[in-house]
Amino acid sequence: MAITPSSPNEQERLAALQSYQILDTEAEKDYDDLTTLASAICQVPIALISFVDDERQWFKSHHGLAASETPVEQSFCAHAIASTHDIMIVEDAHKDDRFKDNPLVTGEPNITFYAGIPLVNEDGYSLGTLCVIDPKPKILSTQQLNALRIVAKQVMDKLELRRKLQTLEGANHSLKSSQQQITQLNTHLKFNDARTRSLIQQAPVAIIVFRGEDLFIEAVNPPMLTLLGKQGDILNKPLLEAIPELNGQEPYKLLYSVLKTGNPVYGYDTAVKLKRNGVEETGYYNFSYSPLIEDGEITGVIDMAVDVTEQVRVRKKIERTEESLRMAVDAADSGTYSMNTRTFEFYASPRLKELFGFNRDEDMSYEACMACIREDYRLTVQTLTEASLYQGERFELEYPVIGYHDGEERWLRGLGTVQPDSHGTDVFFTGIITDITERKEDDQRKSDFIGMVSHELKTPLTSMSGYVQMLLRIAGKDGHSAMIPILEKASKQVSKMTTMINGFLNVSRLESGKIHVDRQRFDIKDLIKEAEEESISTIATHRVIFKPVETSYVDADRDKIGQVISNFLSNAVKYSAPDTTIHVACITLDGYVQVSVTDSGMGINSRDIEKLFDRYYRVEGSEMVSISGFGIGLYLCAEIIKRHNGNIWVESEKDKGSTFYFNLPLA
Ligand code: ADP
Repeated sequence: MAITPSSPNEQERLAALQSYQILDTEAEKDYDDLTTLASAICQVPIALISFVDDERQWFKSHHGLAASETPVEQSFCAHAIASTHDIMIVEDAHKDDRFKDNPLVTGEPNITFYAGIPLVNEDGYSLGTLCVIDPKPKILSTQQLNALRIVAKQVMDKLELRRKLQTLEGANHSLKSSQQQITQLNTHLKFNDARTRSLIQQAPVAIIVFRGEDLFIEAVNPPMLTLLGKQGDILNKPLLEAIPELNGQEPYKLLYSVLKTGNPVYGYDTAVKLKRNGVEETGYYNFSYSPLIEDGEITGVIDMAVDVTEQVRVRKKIERTEESLRMAVDAADSGTYSMNTRTFEFYASPRLKELFGFNRDEDMSYEACMACIREDYRLTVQTLTEASLYQGERFELEYPVIGYHDGEERWLRGLGTVQPDSHGTDVFFTGIITDITERKEDDQRKSDFIGMVSHELKTPLTSMSGYVQMLLRIAGKDGHSAMIPILEKASKQVSKMTTMINGFLNVSRLESGKIHVDRQRFDIKDLIKEAEEESISTIATHRVIFKPVETSYVDADRDKIGQVISNFLSNAVKYSAPDTTIHVACITLDGYVQVSVTDSGMGINSRDIEKLFDRYYRVEGSEMVSISGFGIGLYLCAEIIKRHNGNIWVESEKDKGSTFYFNLPLA
């Protein structure tokens, strides 16, 4: 296992991390939204906000991954934060000496691609990373990398704000308690009591005391001098002589009103222009003005204040990065939405409205948006949305919409999650929708091309197959026995090629909606009998056992179901060693017939299983090099079974073997 690096000033880094008090806190929507966004931008299943302490990496947000922490020895992020680069990219962890033996690479979640951006604080300490992970090798575009950097910046800004708000809370707390103490003392003692003066001098909060009509500065403590950026010489001067820049500003007017009315005044995030240490600048302050009452008369004002400039700035910065974030979402051509799961109030961004064919500034209700979804997909979208709203499931789907005004068809990819808002009062279903029309059109063009080529190849192939058969007959008759095995090989290769081309033709037919299901009632037992008879002449390498095979009537397309069985069987032969046994079974279960084909071959990794039924998907690996195929057989099987309202699945263990199943409703 590779050694995890740690920086020379690790102790200071850990102390910096502690100061954010973020470790082991609850999940928060703000952070979860950012990982959802990162995963959508990079089109990867996993995105994490991770912090690395001395023992583990802990995830503040873990999108697409169940674990909430992992040991530091396995941490990719520890490498990312120790590196001097602003991003660490591992395109294929299996080929990287640092990671190829890492259990997160060799087992779940099978990290292959990793990109991590260190979360560096204002003092230059890397606290953790924002990272994205894919179980497949990948390359990110410059645009994706830039958008990811913006998201990472947003994470860091949120952390800074969190720390500053915590400090502010402490300061405001001191402000309140000092204020209470002073008010108490004020009612019981004369103001010039030595204890009161010493309390003011030692208070942790900035305090200044004004007396009389001209607001003479009677007392000022060191924190207030720092806040004002002045020296002790302002003592015993009228306010406007000591701090002339206050003239005309709101806080000065308020001081006077307290002197007149005796009512206290409080200010929050109030902007004040001050000449601090000779330089004029605007700061933001929380303050309280309390009247000074002696012998029942208002004789002055006590001003206590806290400098909140940093917090208000940070807040402004966050507003700015939120703007950049919106730009990143726009750059990815995405629209966003959110729906309150209690009130069903629906918000759609202007870009989202455009994607559904509305004008950017027009009202678009949830119902209107649903009505734009192409009819054959609408129910699926509705069902998945409801599963998100009521069961909290993640929404992920590609679907076509017909634009409301323009009537144009567009393909969209929707991603959504359900989370409580930052106050924890309401729950929202929020997500991103991206235009993928171009990619879909490309896919269509590819599929049309393959269909056309396969179709054109079919005719010459059929002739070739005929000629080879003719030659075989002639060779037999004329006694050219040496030619026969060669011609038989040629015939086998031609029929292999025919099978492949038929496969491609079927894919292209399927995708252009030209596959029809011809239903008839039949017994699957008979179909399996036929497969058994055929296997006797075609499978010489393996022992195939057909048991148990029960009578089970279905209403289905006989040829197509036969095609699925023979595909399962030929894969079992292809992917298991000669002389091993294959079991075929057909049983009835809860109103369904279930057909299974079991081999004791190479098996399949869990990360490949979910992709196995995708078009053109083949497992990668050295043992596959010598086995030909295009990864369309199982895709076709899945499409055929889907059209019969059945299910198709596989159970498998690497190097032990696999069982492929399908089931169909009984007639
Ligand atoms: P092809 O076999 O032409 O590649 P398929 O769609 O039939 O295409 O299968 C897709 C992939 O699934 C194969 O490439 C192989 O990696 C895997 N696979 C299918 N059947 C088995 C099996 N019985 N054992 C192990 N792997 C299998």
